Amino acid sequence: RQDLKGRTVAVVGLGISGKAAARLALARGASVVGIDQDESLSSLEHDPSFMVLNSTGFKTVLGNFDWNLLNDADVVVVSPGVPLEKYGLSYLLQSGKQVMSELDFAAEALPKSVKILAVTGTNGKSTTVTFAGQMLNHFGIDTFVGGNLGTSLSEAAIQHVTSPAQECKLKVAVVEVSSYQMAIPCVYFRPSVSVVLNLTPDHLERHKTMLDYAEHKCRLFSHMTNAKLGLLSFGNQHLDEAVKKYWNKFNPAWIGAFPGLEIDTEAKIATFKVPDIGIESQLQLGSMRAMGKHNYYNAAVAALSVAGLDVSVHIEDINSTIEKLRPPPHRMQVVHKDIHGVTWVDDSKATNVEATYAGLMGLKGQKSVILLGGLAKVLVGQVSNGFEELIEPLTGHRCVITFGASGAMIHQELSGNGLDIPCIQATNLKDAVEQARKVAKHGDAIVLSPACASFDEFRNFEHRGMVFQELALSS
Ligand code: ADP
Repeated sequence: RQDLKGRTVAVVGLGISGKAAARLALARGASVVGIDQDESLSSLEHDPSFMVLNSTGFKTVLGNFDWNLLNDADVVVVSPGVPLEKYGLSYLLQSGKQVMSELDFAAEALPKSVKILAVTGTNGKSTTVTFAGQMLNHFGIDTFVGGNLGTSLSEAAIQHVTSPAQECKLKVAVVEVSSYQMAIPCVYFRPSVSVVLNLTPDHLERHKTMLDYAEHKCRLFSHMTNAKLGLLSFGNQHLDEAVKKYWNKFNPAWIGAFPGLEIDTEAKIATFKVPDIGIESQLQLGSMRAMGKHNYYNAAVAALSVAGLDVSVHIEDINSTIEKLRPPPHRMQVVHKDIHGVTWVDDSKATNVEATYAGLMGLKGQKSVILLGGLAKVLVGQVSNGFEELIEPLTGHRCVITFGASGAMIHQELSGNGLDIPCIQATNLKDAVEQARKVAKHGDAIVLSPACASFDEFRNFEHRGMVFQELALSS
C-alpha cells in the first residue's frame, strides 16, 4: 500500500462512499480535500465521524471549485455517483494522474490475506451477497458484507488501518459491485471469486449502450490470473461479447450451463460441475423460505462462490444453511397478514421490469393484487418500455393497480397489449393501497413490485417500502 503521509487526496462526491473514502485517506495520514457540487451539504469538518480523526488536514469545497484542486492532488478518488465526463476526470485519468474508484482505494488499504468475493449484475446482487455473508457467518468465518449495499468497502479498510496492532481477523469481504463503481479500471481490487449474475437493460442513461454496460460489469474479470472462480450468466449476447477479451485469463463457469451450475426449479436441486476447482456436487433448495425461483439462483450462486473461495467450506456443508437464508428487506418480503386473510408483500426493490418479472414468477399459485408504478426507467431508443413483458406473469391474478408518475403510461402499455385481468389506475401509492384493499379477497396477496424507480414520490426504494409497510399495518 502506498504511503499517503504528507500527500494530498482529493475525494470527488461526498455521498456515503465518498465520505468513507475521505475518512480512510485521513486515517492513512493524507491531507484531504472533499469536493461536491451540492452546496447544501454541510461542511464535513463538523461531522462527528470526522472529528474523531485528525481533521485538521481536511477541507470541504462545495459548489463550483477550482480545477487545480484536482490537478494538484496526488491521488483523486471518485465516488460511484460521479460520471468521469465531469470535472475533467477522464482527462486527468488519461494524463497519468492517479485517479481511483472508492472501491480500489479501499482495496489498496486492505490486508492481502482478505479474500474478496465480488458480485455484480442487473438484479439479485444484494440478495446474493447477503446469502453469501449468511453462509460464511454460519461457518464462523469473519466476513464483511457491503460495497454498493449498506457499508462501503472503505469502512472495512478504516477498521484495519486504525487498528494495525491487532491481528486482522477479517477473512473475507463479500462486495456488491455496481457498474458505476467499475467506471475506472481497478488495480488493487482483485477478487478471488467474481460473479456477473445477469444483464438486462438498466442504467442506460449513463451507459448509453448495452455493450458499454456489459463491459463495465465484465471488468471484474480483468484480474483473473490468480483468481479461483469467474462465474457469469450463460447465453447473454452482450456479456459474451464483453467477456471475450478476458478469455486468455480464465475459463468461465456459467450460471445456467456446465462448467458451472444448473438448477432444476421443479425438483428444487442445484447441480454444480466446475472441474477446474474440483467441484462436482448438488444442493437441495427445497427447504428455502425466501420467496421466488430467482432466489434459487441467488442461493446457488452464493453457495458456489463461497465454496470457490477456498476457505474450507465445502459445497455439501452449505445444505445445512439453506433454510436459514433471509433476503435483505424490500425484496419479496412478507410484511403483514391482515384480519381479512390478505398477505402483504413488499418488493419495493423491484425497480425495473425484469426484477418485477422475477418477483411475479415466484408468486405462482398465489392470487395477487399487484401494484405497479413510480418513475419508469425509459429505455433509450425503444418504442415501448417493456411493461408488456409482464402480461404473461400477470395472467390469472386478481388485478393490477398502476400509480405514480408513470401510472398512466403503464396502464396504457398493459391494456393496449391485451392484459386480460382488470387494471385500475390510481394516483399515488396511498391511493393504490386503498384501491387494492377494496378488490383483494380472502386468501389473496397485495404485492408492491413496482417495476419503476421511486423518486417521483419517495427518497428511495427503502422509503417507498417503509411507507407501504405502514399502510399495510394500518388496515
Ligand atoms: P440488486 O442488488 O441487484 O438490485 P436485489 O437482490 O436487491 O438486486 O433484488 C432486486 C429485485 O430483483 C428483487 O426485488 C427481486 O424481485 C429481483 N431479483 C432478485 N434476484 C434476481 C435474479 N437472480 N434474477 C432476476 N431478478 C432478481
